[in-house]
Amino acid sequence: MPRFLADGMLGRFTRWLRILGCEVTYFNEASDDRLLEVAETEDRVLLTRDQELFQRAKSRGLDAHYLKGQTTPETIAEVARHYQIRLEVDVSLSRCPTCGSPIRPIAKAEVRDKVPTGTFKQYDAFWICTSCGQVYWRGSHWNRITETLTQAKTLLRDQHVANP
Ligand SMILES: [Zn+2]
Repeated sequence: MPRFLADGMLGRFTRWLRILGCEVTYFNEASDDRLLEVAETEDRVLLTRDQELFQRAKSRGLDAHYLKGQTTPETIAEVARHYQIRLEVDVSLSRCPTCGSPIRPIAKAEVRDKVPTGTFKQYDAFWICTSCGQVYWRGSHWNRITETLTQAKTLLRDQHVANP
């Protein structure tokens, strides 16, 4: 799987790719020149919704993908099809949505003072980012994540049928 570089408009989408285990660098604010430089020196695929930036990347011979998907499931399906990304969350492969570093399981006892009391009582499985220390659990947002991925899988399957 390639390593990605997402442009400044793709903050939320970057989180999805990281949950799916992709290595993605994202800058909230960076000039187009800076993005092109990082894509080139770090050998990353540039993901962008900016047609001009995309053309500049291509003219430099960089690997870039212009995202056409309008909704989140559409965009996920588009990238998954193009780069053969499995649309299943394997937490052992997931990366921190916030910073992109690997996450690892952490014992419940160790997160007592790191999560809200209600969360601590309700959940038993926790993960922590090896870099920024953010703690994760499969909370209520988990259902929305799997729902969105199911929509993306349906789109992927339908596209596959329509365009063998
Ligand atoms: Zn992190």
